[in-house]
Amino acid sequence: MRQPADPTATPGPAPLRAIPPGLHLVSTPIGAARDITLRALDVLAGADVLVAEDTRTLRHLMEIHGIALNGRPVIAYHDHSGEGQLQRLLALIAEGRSLAYASEAGTPLISDPGFELARAVAAAGLPMTAAPGATAAICALTLSGLPSDRFLFAGFLPASASARRTALEDLASVQATLILYESPKRLAALLSDAATTLGGARQAAICRELTKRFEEVIRGTLAELAEVTATRDLKGEIVVLIDRAAPSAATEDQIAAALDSALASMSVKDASTFVSQTLNVSRKIVYRIALSRSQD
Ligand code: SAM
Repeated sequence: MRQPADPTATPGPAPLRAIPPGLHLVSTPIGAARDITLRALDVLAGADVLVAEDTRTLRHLMEIHGIALNGRPVIAYHDHSGEGQLQRLLALIAEGRSLAYASEAGTPLISDPGFELARAVAAAGLPMTAAPGATAAICALTLSGLPSDRFLFAGFLPASASARRTALEDLASVQATLILYESPKRLAALLSDAATTLGGARQAAICRELTKRFEEVIRGTLAELAEVTATRDLKGEIVVLIDRAAPSAATEDQIAAALDSALASMSVKDASTFVSQTLNVSRKIVYRIALSRSQD
């Protein structure tokens, strides 16, 4: 007769699972090495071929989790690896091999390589799965204290000041929590531009070094966070989150009237910034109306 399972027994190592042919997108930790799923480990342990943005990082992660390579190839791939490398990977999948793809950290394709490969696999009608896991954007959203019902992930904004301000203007009226990635050296400039473009009163959060030793979440208005970053040199990996614009009750006639009085003493640019902040309307919309009024 079959014995009932012993509930106190420690489970042994998971049996090596056969990984089906296809591309398997594997999410890896964004800091703490144990933030990897059991299925991701299964895929790394069983795939025929390992493909990585950075082969050393992947080998190191596998070592930490006791996954042997057993002579399997580890191929470097990122979105600029070229058509030849992309075609080689597609050919391996078409031959019936299973490929595990991991980026440097977190979820592949999320401000990381993998998009060109995944798109090509989809276009070729080849099989593809994802072993989902950590991503800094979602981890930060859950900690930010900002509404999580609707969000827009905008990744890294452009590095140049004028392109960054234009990008912020485009995001100004979006009715969702904005999630941005930023390097520590541009953080102060981003927050100062965000406070000017979106208005200093909006709630925001800086999430730094998530899942790591110096993890920190700083919440406040954009004006307060701009002040913090102007005086404190925040290091490490950073996500910035910004609350959505409060819906404006201003009508086009009210915007026009406010602009007419502002344009009496200000340039089109300054009047647009002033009215957009006063009435809480996207600067892009105000600027469009201001241009048409200044030409009348
Ligand atoms: N694929 C990754 C993901 O799923 O989040 C993102 C890779 S992107 C090249 C790196 C950026 O992600 C960093 O500059 C930072 O903005 C954000 N990031 C990654 N890890 C982070 C962490 N532990 N804490 C805060 N931000 C992090």
